[in-house]
Amino acid sequence: MSAEFDLYIASREKMVREQIVSRGIKNQQVINVFRKVPRHKFIDQQYWKEAYSNYPLPLTHGQTISQPYIVALMTELLELYDDEKVLEIGTGSGYQTAILAELTKTVYTVERWPELSQAAQQTLQELGYKNIQLQIGDGSTGWQEHAPYDRIMVTASAPNIPQPLIDQLKENGKIVMPLGSNFGQDLVVGEKHKGEIKIFNYGKCVFVPLIGDFGWAKEKESA
Ligand code: SAM
Repeated sequence: MSAEFDLYIASREKMVREQIVSRGIKNQQVINVFRKVPRHKFIDQQYWKEAYSNYPLPLTHGQTISQPYIVALMTELLELYDDEKVLEIGTGSGYQTAILAELTKTVYTVERWPELSQAAQQTLQELGYKNIQLQIGDGSTGWQEHAPYDRIMVTASAPNIPQPLIDQLKENGKIVMPLGSNFGQDLVVGEKHKGEIKIFNYGKCVFVPLIGDFGWAKEKESA
């Protein structure tokens, strides 16, 4: 085992202790996955030293990999038991995708920037994930081909839950996403019962906008 590898194991332990467990994440399977997935591999090497710090880090195209606590909170809120079909919108670096793939059977993930999707695919392949399918496109319209989904996670913010995502969610399914404007959003869980979504609010958060037909117009990206 190389010294570099040792260093990152220790950094991950510290991240789990100080940012995830101490802030109230309780699900032991979720906690263990954060010990395992090498976050530094999903970002540019110039940021590796900061990979396990308590803040978002830059990707290309002005996008970000979310801070570890938010990734853990959204994962816990999704309530995965290991055989769910999950749709993720906003692949970004692929880090959240890997976390989901560790906890469930199949993950479908959509990203609008080809370069990000391709980089994520390469990282996920190198790490040996075989239960992930990636698509490039506007995820605000979902991914109809594989619907319905047990769970949906959106890692970019929209004014409302996009109707295609509600339609593609199974009865009794859950969707986790940030809702609001680009000045701040609420992290919500939506549960689908009898075709209707019941919303539960889990507090303030800040995400990049979901740009697309059922999200924000393109101009919002530079706003
Ligand atoms: N979960 C990612 C990770 O672990 O690296 C971070 C996601 S980043 C906060 C949000 C991502 O959503 C960005 O990569 C952005 O390009 C993407 N995005 C925004 N609008 C989108 C859309 N309509 N369809 C698909 N992806 C979109």
